[in-house]
Amino acid sequence: MSPDAMTIRLHLRRMRVVRVVVDLIERLVLEVADTRRVVRCGYCGFRTGRVHDRRRVKVHDLACQGRATLLEWIRRRFECDTCGERFLEDHPEIVLGRRTHVTRRLARQLVRDIQAMSIREVSRRYGLPWHYLMATTLGWSELVAVKRRRRRCRVLLVDETSLRRGHRYVTVLINGDTGETLGIVKHRNAAALSGFLVAQGHRWMRGVRVVVSDGSTSYRSAIQQHLGHATHVLDRFHVARWFATGMIEVRRRIQRIGDKGTRPAFEPEIFRSRYLQLARYDHPDTDARLGEVLAHRPELEAAWRMLQHLYGIHVAATDDQANQALGAFINTYRDHPLLEFEKLTETLLE
Ligand SMILES: [Zn+2]
Repeated sequence: MSPDAMTIRLHLRRMRVVRVVVDLIERLVLEVADTRRVVRCGYCGFRTGRVHDRRRVKVHDLACQGRATLLEWIRRRFECDTCGERFLEDHPEIVLGRRTHVTRRLARQLVRDIQAMSIREVSRRYGLPWHYLMATTLGWSELVAVKRRRRRCRVLLVDETSLRRGHRYVTVLINGDTGETLGIVKHRNAAALSGFLVAQGHRWMRGVRVVVSDGSTSYRSAIQQHLGHATHVLDRFHVARWFATGMIEVRRRIQRIGDKGTRPAFEPEIFRSRYLQLARYDHPDTDARLGEVLAHRPELEAAWRMLQHLYGIHVAATDDQANQALGAFINTYRDHPLLEFEKLTETLLE
């Protein structure tokens, strides 16, 4: 393979492929170098072509023909003929980081991928360290935030997510009308949200009409303080999941018929209909099958009815309807005070 052909395929200006180091189905490593022979000294401005030494710098690039591609850039250190200073060359296609270096085009692709995938997925795809991607994301989201600061946001979605299972929580801010990610900030608390809101400025905050969050207390004070004028809506998905907890716990308790490891450990009829049990009663799938499952199981049936009343509170169009559903829920709970619903009931009646 001639070096010139490889340069064309790389499509990197002012970069030539010196040799192919690794050429495997899944991995490509290329040794590359700047095409210039003479550079301008950063100290005195005169030209010099005297190379003092060379070092090898690993630079991640876009996948080439589906193969993870690593460039080994032979980075030269020049010694100026005129002033005698030594300096390392730079390259316009390479973004140098502290430890991890990428091509400019990979950097651009990362920005797009991070919006669509989790950092973990992106990290695996390009073989890039997690910390590097996190720093890139934060830097990028700050830039984006600055650019979009003055753009109106009527509906603000506030969500928390963990970048790695169990730790490193971030708060993600999304424009509910456009779906654009407005920013990603470290931590999931009022301070994190406040910081983001304040950075957007007063005019931006006044433009927000609706805030959607999971209703967690961690964000509540920030929303009250900065977006008190806006309508605060609980995210339907989060609320429904919270309501369903009691039902799921009751089901888990009563479905067990054998010890761990025995088969079947669960009563198949109950286990199989677990999703059906969580559907709203007017859902087309809530059919006779569910009726049979609930018929001889008073606790499961009570749990199901309570869940339906909770859904009723949630979808109620008026306060009256909501109060009716709440009343029905309380009545059922009085008759069947299931432990699994205790915590939820306390919160509701606060
Ligand atoms: Zn010089």
